[in-house]
Amino acid sequence: MKPKQKNKSRLSGLLRMAAPQKGKLIFSGLLAIIGEGFGVLPFFIIYRIIAEVGGKPLSEIEQRFIYMLIIYAIVAIILKHICMGASTALSHVSAYNILYDLRVEIAKKLRTLSLGYFNKQNTGQIKKVMSEDVEQMEIFLAHNIPDFTAAFFYTLLTAIVLFVVDWRLALATILAIPIGAVIQMMTMGRGMDIINKWFLATEKMNAAMIEYIQGMPIIKAFNHTVESFSKYSGSIEDCLRIEGQISKRWYLPTSIFSVSITANMLLLLPVGAAMYLAGMITLGKFVFFLLMGVGFGSPMWVMIQFGRFMEKHLESQARIDAVLTAKPLSEPDQSETPGKGIFGNTVEFGYNRQNKVINGIDFSIPARKFVALVGPSGAGKTTLARLIPRFWDVEAGSITLGETDIRNIKTDDLMDQFGLIFQNVYLFNDTVLANLKLGNSDASDAKIVDAAKKARCHEFIMKLPRGYDTVIGEKGARISGGEKQRLSIARALLKDSPILILDEATAFIDPENEALVQGAINKLARNKTLVVIAHRISTIIAADEIVVLDKGRIAASGTHEQLLVNSELYKNMWETHTTAQSWSL
Ligand code: ADP
Repeated sequence: MKPKQKNKSRLSGLLRMAAPQKGKLIFSGLLAIIGEGFGVLPFFIIYRIIAEVGGKPLSEIEQRFIYMLIIYAIVAIILKHICMGASTALSHVSAYNILYDLRVEIAKKLRTLSLGYFNKQNTGQIKKVMSEDVEQMEIFLAHNIPDFTAAFFYTLLTAIVLFVVDWRLALATILAIPIGAVIQMMTMGRGMDIINKWFLATEKMNAAMIEYIQGMPIIKAFNHTVESFSKYSGSIEDCLRIEGQISKRWYLPTSIFSVSITANMLLLLPVGAAMYLAGMITLGKFVFFLLMGVGFGSPMWVMIQFGRFMEKHLESQARIDAVLTAKPLSEPDQSETPGKGIFGNTVEFGYNRQNKVINGIDFSIPARKFVALVGPSGAGKTTLARLIPRFWDVEAGSITLGETDIRNIKTDDLMDQFGLIFQNVYLFNDTVLANLKLGNSDASDAKIVDAAKKARCHEFIMKLPRGYDTVIGEKGARISGGEKQRLSIARALLKDSPILILDEATAFIDPENEALVQGAINKLARNKTLVVIAHRISTIIAADEIVVLDKGRIAASGTHEQLLVNSELYKNMWETHTTAQSWSL
């Protein structure tokens, strides 16, 4: 899509979101326009008063007329502020209503997306959308658009009034602005190439900054601070150099335009004075134009800045649209009942079209059996294990529970089938009890304590300041990795689902904790179908079947003893593992 078309479709997205609040928004705009009208009125009244007074003594009727005019001016000022206040209040009410609807729409949309969508990158993006981008909508709808509307109509109304009063002085007030704008466009138009250079340099600088910050632990550990900083500072210097060129090239045209907006007095003052002295205009008219002329250019800045705000808004809108248009997981109209055992039929999957990660795999995991997935890093173990609870849909082939394709089971029913224990355990900033209850909201306290005991977490929970009612710090900060793991196992125990999927659950846990976690898993796995991705082969040698994955294909499968004889790859992995263990001993 061309950029202009893209912007158009993004704006139509904004209009769609704003549609329910259309009436309020239009009324807010009308109030702002009326308010600006009242704002112009006192100046016009001042002009009428000077025209009436004109230096001569006033009759009683004339004096009364002038008092009336002054009252009109005061009323107009009050009405302007009432209209403007009401307009702002209305635009805020509509903006917050739109924000509310948008947040609900995003939240509803997130419920329809596959679990696989919530990877690290997308989660970061969603966070940004929910906080910054949605807030940006409020700024655009409740501030930028009303400010622009008010500035535009103020300028338009003033220009009309000025032309009605005296077209020659009106021209003298306004003429400098289009001339300045044309000069600026002509001189700056030729300099767009440098803006593209500047965009590229800024992108490079941002990338260098992210690399610098992300790599900080490595940079410090290897004492490379000077070299790494010079790479980052080099990109800053490039940016600075281009910005310098931009300033040099644009200094003159931008200054001419600024002058044309703010210094229209340079033209108005001599023209007005000459016309007054030649008796072509009254003093009232002259003073009126001087009053109106001083502030005539200021709203122009608001209008010019609107372009920048629009750009910012379109960027936010694009990120919001990316979430709202993400492909949802299809839901069957009627949920079919899941059968027993997990079966893969020529399963194919890739994260993108170019690379297949799973290359036509057939597998069968009978109910209540313990199956382990092993293989080199990048073989596709995690991907395969996550295809089973439908983190993503397979590209070709199918995965079934018994005879039932998982795509024909409603998500809630499908999720009832699985207990998932992954390396990164997420705990909510809530009490230990509330975190455990996620496994089963109806569980009694006694049942929760029982599960915690089986998962070997009761003891450390009781040592926490308020036991089960202790609020877990941000991301469970006050709880160790092993303890988190055991809490997640307790959660899974409470859920009591027939299939358990464990992805490297004991990786990076110290040996003492590993034994505890392993013990908890053994309790949990009794009478369940167990799929384990093993980090340490020693933890899965008792599996009923070990599947060796390599480059998205099944290289071999069998028990530990069978594989040691049949699979070179497995044998090598086992030897590497045992050697590593003897090293650590
Ligand atoms: P394993 O668990 O065996 O280490 P994975 O299933 O994690 O393997 O990864 C298999 C391949 O898929 C790797 O090449 C990995 O880089 C790629 N991959 C994994 N997750 C993603 C993702 N979210 N997006 C794109 N590629 C991915």
